[in-house]
Amino acid sequence: MTTKLLDNRWDDAKAAGMSESERLLYRSNLLGSDKRITNYGGGNTSAKVEERDPLTGETVTVLWVKGSGGDVGTMKLDGFATLYQSKLEQLRGIYRGPEHEDEMVGLLSHCTFNLNPRASSIDTPLHAYLPYTHVDHMHPDAVIAIAATGRSRELTRDIYGEELGWLPWRRPGFQLGLDLSRFAAENPQARGVVLESHGLFTWGETAKDCYETTLRIINRAIEWFDGQLAGKPAFGGEKSPARDVAERRRVAARLMPEIRARIGVEERKIGHFDDSPAVLEFVGSNRLDELAALGTSCPDHFLRTKIRPLVLPYNGDLDVLVGGLDAAVEAYREGYRAYYERCRHDNSPAIRDPNAVIYLVPGVGMLSFAKDKATARIASEFYVNAINVMRGASGVDTYQGLPEQEAFDIEYWLLEEAKLQRMPKPKSLAGRIAFVTGGAGGIGRATAERLMSEGACVVLADIDAGALDAARADFAKRFGADQVRGVIANVTDEAAVAQAFEDAVTEFGGLDILVSNAGIASASPIEETTLEVWNRNIDILATGYFLVSREAFRLFRRQKLGGSIVFIASKNGLAASAGASAYCTAKAAEIHLARCLALEGAEAGIRVNTVNPDAVLRGSKIWSGEWREQRAASSKIGEEQLEEHYRQRSLLKRSVFPEDIAEAVYFLASDLSAKSTGNIMNVDAGNQISFTR
Ligand code: NAD
Repeated sequence: MTTKLLDNRWDDAKAAGMSESERLLYRSNLLGSDKRITNYGGGNTSAKVEERDPLTGETVTVLWVKGSGGDVGTMKLDGFATLYQSKLEQLRGIYRGPEHEDEMVGLLSHCTFNLNPRASSIDTPLHAYLPYTHVDHMHPDAVIAIAATGRSRELTRDIYGEELGWLPWRRPGFQLGLDLSRFAAENPQARGVVLESHGLFTWGETAKDCYETTLRIINRAIEWFDGQLAGKPAFGGEKSPARDVAERRRVAARLMPEIRARIGVEERKIGHFDDSPAVLEFVGSNRLDELAALGTSCPDHFLRTKIRPLVLPYNGDLDVLVGGLDAAVEAYREGYRAYYERCRHDNSPAIRDPNAVIYLVPGVGMLSFAKDKATARIASEFYVNAINVMRGASGVDTYQGLPEQEAFDIEYWLLEEAKLQRMPKPKSLAGRIAFVTGGAGGIGRATAERLMSEGACVVLADIDAGALDAARADFAKRFGADQVRGVIANVTDEAAVAQAFEDAVTEFGGLDILVSNAGIASASPIEETTLEVWNRNIDILATGYFLVSREAFRLFRRQKLGGSIVFIASKNGLAASAGASAYCTAKAAEIHLARCLALEGAEAGIRVNTVNPDAVLRGSKIWSGEWREQRAASSKIGEEQLEEHYRQRSLLKRSVFPEDIAEAVYFLASDLSAKSTGNIMNVDAGNQISFTR
C-alpha cells in the first residue's frame, strides 16, 4: 500500500495580495495543517523581512520567527517574535562558547523589534544565522524516521544526495544556530539539513519556494519508506491481535481509574484512550517491549510523553492486569528516579512527577494521563508520531532513541524549568472530572459551566438529544472541545446508566464529581394523581438518583481518591406542598438518600451533599410547561406574574437563577467544602418553611 503524498496547497491568487509577514503566516498555517508535516506545537518558521524602523524611519531587516509556545498550524501573526537582524548578528560577537549558550537566551529580548511582547523561542538562532530569507523547521515523522536510525547520515545522503545535508545531534540553542550557518555557507547547493534525532530544516528565497521545498523533501522520504517497507511486516509482525472494540473499551474503562488511583494522589490526572490502527499495530507487535524500552527520539516527543512508556501485559484476564498494576507502576517510578539520579547535575531542578505518561496495553491500545485533557491527548498524539518514526526507522535500520543523558539535559534544562515555573497556577478543579445528569437543562447547564470555568472536565448526561448536542457544542466553543462530552442516558435505565459511566471513564479516565440533577416536576391533587405520574416521579427523582449514585460509588471506591456527590433536590423535599405529593415525596427521598450515602461514603472520602433550589424560572424547561400553568393556577395568578410572586414570597425578596444554584454546587463539589458531608444548602432567597433543623 502506498502512502498518500502531501498535496501542494499553495494558492498564488491568495498569496499575491499579502505582505511578506502575512505570506509567512499563510505558509506556516498550511504546513501545520497536516500533522505529517509537523506535530502539534512542533517546529517553527521564519522570514527575514524589510521593515521601517519606528526609531529611525530607515528600512531594516527584521527576523519574523515563530515565538515561544503556540502551534504553526493555528498561530496568528501575533505568534511571531520580531527581532532586529543586525542586533542578532551582533550577538555572535559576544558568544562565549557552547558551555555558556544558555545565557544567550536572555539576550534575545534585547534584539526585539517594535516592542513585540511575544517571547523568542530557543530555536531563534537556528533561523537567524541561516543566509536565506525563508526557513522552515519541521518535525515530519518520515524525516525523523531517517534521523532516528543508526545510519541516518548515510541514509540522508542515499536519499537526498547533495540536496540535503546532515548534522549530528545537538540540543537546540545558539551553537546549533552557528553550526547550521556554517553548514549553509559551506554547502550553497543544499536546500536543507536533517538534524540527527530531531527534525528537518529547509529554506528558500521566497515563501512559496521554501514551502514547496519542504513538501518535496518530506514526500521523497514518504516515497522512499514506502519502497523500503513494502511487503515487510511492521515491528517484526503481530504477537497480540487487537481485541474487539467492546472489549478494548471495557478494559480501558476498568484500567483507567485504577491507574488514576495510583498516579493521581498528589495531582489529579485526566486520561485519554487511543485504540487507532497505528497504535494497535505497535502494541500488538513482536517488537513492542524492545522498541518501547528504547524511548522516543525527537525532543518534542519525549518532553510530552516522557522518554519511555509503561507496557502493561494483558492476556485477556482483567483481574491479572489490575493485580499487577501496583508493581508495574512502582517499577516505572523506580526506573525514573534511577534515571534522574544517574543523569542529574549539581544545579538540576528537583525531580518531577516520576509516573509514566503513556501506558501501552497489547491488544487494547494506549492510555495517556496528564494534568488536563488537552495535554493528555497531545501526549498520546506525540506517541503516535513516535510510533510512526519507529515503524520507519526500525524497518530500514536500527532505531535509536536519544542518549539518556541528552534526554535528561533537555527534560531538566534550566530554561525548560523556568518555562514550567512561569505557568499560571492551576484552577481549583483542574484535573477533576464531573458527571452532570440533566446537563442539557437550565440548572445542569449552568452547573456544568461553573465547573468548567474552574478547569473541570464535564460529561453532560441527558435524554434530550437536541438540547444535549447544543449544550455540548456551545461549551466546546467556549472552553475547548477537550473539556466536554455529551452522553445520552436515561437515569432510570440501569444498563444505560452503567454504559454512560463507562463512556465517561473511557473519555476522561475516571470520576471525581457527580451532580445528580436530572429531573421533572408535576402537580396534581392526590385523588387525581395517576400511578403513572407517581411512578414517573419516583423513577426519575428517587430511582434515577439511586442508580447514578451507585455507579459513582462503585467507581469512587475503585479509584480510591474520594469523591463528591451533589444532589439537586428541592425546597419541596423539605417543605410539604399541597397538590404535588408525588414530586414532594420523591424529592424527600432524594434528600434522605443523600444523607444515607454521606454516612456510607465517609470512610472512603466520598462526600454527599444536597442543594435545594426553589423557583428557578429562568432557563428551566420545567418552568416552560405544564408545571408553570399549574403553579400559576394554584397561586391564582397569571403565568407572567410568577417571577414577581416568588420574589415577593422569599425572605430576601430576590429571584433565584440557575447560576446561583451552580455556585452552591461548585462549593460543595470542590475542596472548598472538603469538611462538609450530609449537608443541605437551600438556595431559595430565604424561605422559613425550608429552614433545616
Ligand atoms: P430542566 O427541565 O431545565 O432540566 C432538567 C433536565 O433533566 C432536562 O434537560 C431533561 O431533559 C433532563 N431529564 C429529565 N428526565 C431525565 C431522565 N430520565 N434522564 C436523564 N435526563 C433527564 O429543569 P431544571 O430547572 O434545570 O431542573 C433541574 C433539577 O432541579 C431538577 O431535579 C428539578 O427538580 C430541580 N429543581 C428545580 C427547581 C426550579 O425551580 N427550576 C426547583 C427545585 C428543584
